[in-house]
Amino acid sequence: MLVKADLHIHTVLSPCGSFEMSPLNIIKRAKELELDVIAITDHNSIFNSFPSKRLGEREGIKVFLGMEAQTLEEVHILTLFDNEKSIKNFYSEVYNYLPELENDPEYFGDQLIVDEEENILKEEKKLLANSLDLSIEELTELVKEYGGYVIPSHIERDRFGLLTNLYKIPDSLKDCVFEVSYNASLNELFKIYPFLKNFPLISNSDSHYLNDMGRAYTQYEVSEISLDKIYSAAKEGRYKVFKR
Ligand SMILES: [Zn+2]
Ligand SMILES: [Zn+2]
Repeated sequence: MLVKADLHIHTVLSPCGSFEMSPLNIIKRAKELELDVIAITDHNSIFNSFPSKRLGEREGIKVFLGMEAQTLEEVHILTLFDNEKSIKNFYSEVYNYLPELENDPEYFGDQLIVDEEENILKEEKKLLANSLDLSIEELTELVKEYGGYVIPSHIERDRFGLLTNLYKIPDSLKDCVFEVSYNASLNELFKIYPFLKNFPLISNSDSHYLNDMGRAYTQYEVSEISLDKIYSAAKEGRYKVFKR
């Protein structure tokens, strides 16, 4: 079967995520857009992916639990899990690598953990818009150890993109799936980085506002909807990117 997936969506927990990005609104919008699968990927945090998953179950939308990690090299990497216990164990370790700097909501934005009914449960005090004290290699190893998958995000982008920071694909990421931005031109990219033709390149919306949702998604050909199957489909070229 063919499934439409957007694996990069921020919520009100990301300091740069709009206040309208509650799990409730995101699931409603995903339903309107007829997405089968989404992933919630807040900056260096995981907690709003849980209410999103529960809301998704009610609406028939599969929600992967995720995070967009920022490594020591200032590179953004999506870390995706299908299992609540695994991502919680993973994150309890990762949180120790987030610097002890307090968020200034006036300057960076709010970091709100909410429930299915949009009640605010907690405010994350540590600044999430920061680099973890983990290298790309260390983070990747940790994700694999806990049974997750990595997708370096918006790899061509000037800020926090893998290629513009390192100019190459490091060995620890050689067997990965990569995300290019919703507005990137593959032809232009291949002129600068010809080696990219050998890698699976998907796109997601990287939504920070409800209106961003649907600007890009990827359709995968899978036998069943699971993270494992979707990741394999991407690696084996059974995917097609759609852009608005
Ligand atoms: Zn990013
Ligand atoms: Zn993002």
